[in-house]
Amino acid sequence: MNPRLAENLAEVRARIAAAAQRSGRPVDAVRLVGVTKYVSLEVSADLARCGLVDLGESRPQQLVRKAEAWQQLASHPGPVHWHLVGHLQRNKLARTLPLVGLWHSADSRRVLQAASAWAVQAGRQVPTLIEVHLAPDATKGGFPAEELASLGDWLAQLPGITVRGLMTMARLEGGPATARIDFARLRQVRDSLRGVWPESLGLDELSMGMSDDFEVAIEEGSTIVRLGSVLFAGIDPEPSRQEHSP
Ligand SMILES: *Cc1c(COP(=O)(O)O)cnc(C)c1O
Repeated sequence: MNPRLAENLAEVRARIAAAAQRSGRPVDAVRLVGVTKYVSLEVSADLARCGLVDLGESRPQQLVRKAEAWQQLASHPGPVHWHLVGHLQRNKLARTLPLVGLWHSADSRRVLQAASAWAVQAGRQVPTLIEVHLAPDATKGGFPAEELASLGDWLAQLPGITVRGLMTMARLEGGPATARIDFARLRQVRDSLRGVWPESLGLDELSMGMSDDFEVAIEEGSTIVRLGSVLFAGIDPEPSRQEHSP
């Protein structure tokens, strides 16, 4: 294993702890999800071997591939919680959701309805975050903040879906200072839904903050940061590929 990986993880954890402290919260109020979409199964497993038990993927087929191959790994890193952080196509849902510990990216009524139907039939509950579209970038998915209040009653009637909170991505332009505006807004949106949404819907989790902006996200109340590139700085994403070439 590249020793840099454990160093990166320790450094990131220290930065998370410092930001949590600045926001007046205990370190364990912020959960780190390592987004492994850039790296091979082996490097993902190395991250778990360093002690990170929450791993995330943005593409359902990658999550399925890694989660299914996990058991077969030599020097097994132990079980991890898989987080789906990207768009879930309805035709991938039945294969993906059984493997997912937290679905961060419920981005439409259609996919929520389909996930609910699957969950009922499978006898499962799907821990879910509602993705909120705050940034003006047209490329991003999620519910516009203005639609959330009226979504509550519908969500509360949806069997098999356990709502735990909200997720967002900050706008790409402008760096951490602009991202902070989006993160503060998500927190305000969440606060305003308390007392509007039925009590059965959880609003404790705020999944916000990526490599370039996680510290400001934590200062604005993030409970889950989703970090990829900062963890893999200086790491070969596919270290074993040489062995496979002729
Ligand atoms: C890729 C990705 C991340 C991690 O991004 P980094 O900037 O590399 O930390 C977080 N969230 C989502 C939804 C992603 O797709």
